[in-house]
Amino acid sequence: MTHWLLAERRAPLPPRGGAHRPLRKRIHLAFFLVFLALPFSNLMRFDLPRQRFYFGGAELAISEFSILFFALMFLMVLLAASAIVYGRIYCSYACPQMIFSEWSLSLERWTARRLPGWARRGAFYAVLAAASVLLAFAFTSYFIAPGDLLSRFLRADLATVGGITGASVTLLTFLDLAFLRLKFCTTICPYGYLQGIVQDRRTLLVAYQDSAGACIDCNKCVRVCEMGIDIRNGPFQIECVHCGDCIDACEDVLRKVGHEGVIQYAWGEGGTAAAREPWPRRIGLRDAKRVVILLVMAAYLAALGLALSLHRPVMVRITPDRSTMFQVLPDGRVANRIRMDLANRSSRPVTVRVWVEGLPGARLDLAANPLPLAPGESLERTFDLAAAPWPGAQELNPVRVLAQSSDRSSPVVSEMMFIMPVKGSAP
Ligand code: SF4
Ligand code: SF4
Repeated sequence: MTHWLLAERRAPLPPRGGAHRPLRKRIHLAFFLVFLALPFSNLMRFDLPRQRFYFGGAELAISEFSILFFALMFLMVLLAASAIVYGRIYCSYACPQMIFSEWSLSLERWTARRLPGWARRGAFYAVLAAASVLLAFAFTSYFIAPGDLLSRFLRADLATVGGITGASVTLLTFLDLAFLRLKFCTTICPYGYLQGIVQDRRTLLVAYQDSAGACIDCNKCVRVCEMGIDIRNGPFQIECVHCGDCIDACEDVLRKVGHEGVIQYAWGEGGTAAAREPWPRRIGLRDAKRVVILLVMAAYLAALGLALSLHRPVMVRITPDRSTMFQVLPDGRVANRIRMDLANRSSRPVTVRVWVEGLPGARLDLAANPLPLAPGESLERTFDLAAAPWPGAQELNPVRVLAQSSDRSSPVVSEMMFIMPVKGSAP
């Protein structure tokens, strides 16, 4: 062993790869802030009592199926793609369970180091209880509007479904962070088992590769592993979340004796992290299967963008009602029936103004114009479009009926034919 140590000391070591744990901790903090921000900024949350779905700041009815469908499909494909290409990178870098469990373990270690014996458990549980209230509040805000939830919380509401849900989630969060933590990943969570199904021979993993026999059996890689395993027993252990902490630990130890670490991220068992390959292969696009996955993801993202761009907070549909072709009114004017369906899917009251273009002297026989619509209200109206016969009128006369809501969206234009009686025609 002394022999190779001396030999390696003379050869300059390649620069050290990135330190994974500090990077992971920064990403944990970023994801935690995103977790808090999404429901409070309406970037993504449900409002189950009001049957609403907020996405990208837009307020949608849950019945607007296309946006919900494409959003969920995109997230599902994103999760599956990250599992196929990058292994358990979601578990170690983005999963809330992992983030909060590691914070709980760090807090427990910190209180054990800094506080006297009698105060340790009390302080630990007190901080966990406060954190559980905050986390449960943020989590429940994904399903109940934060303002509504806060008022239930301040009233100590344990009578409604919303209040009981908030209290139950708080208790479960506390029990999870105090007792379950990372055991959840290896017992309850299905994602680890899913990983075993979807991974292939090019999936990123953490591997012990020691062809030079450099390992000095210091066991530091085992001591730092939060999942309590020894990566030297193989890269396909279900407990391994590919966090990279053991890579850092091994680098720390072996570089002191002039050798690179013998644990690394690798594209499949026996593969290497190929720093000199072209960038598509370096980021994991290593075969046609991965390119197809990327294209499927892009397709769902494009469909989601299209569905969002077509979304209108106020839905207006105008169609001719052909149950009667036309009607001659007592004053001699001719009327065609029009049907209008309206739905206000926003949280503000709006009005909808309707007018007609392209027909000389035409009038809409509406009781109220603009029509008021309360938040969440839907209504259906049938009314007459009437015009006196004019010189040059045909049996079928093109006409445009337009409607515009007060939320400043562009007018909805409905093009149709106005039917006039000619000799011999009947209504
Ligand atoms: S073996 Fe290494 S990569 Fe796997 S969980 Fe443990 S420390 Fe993380
Ligand atoms: S940290 Fe590296 S050198 Fe130490 S036991 Fe683990 S693999 Fe061997």
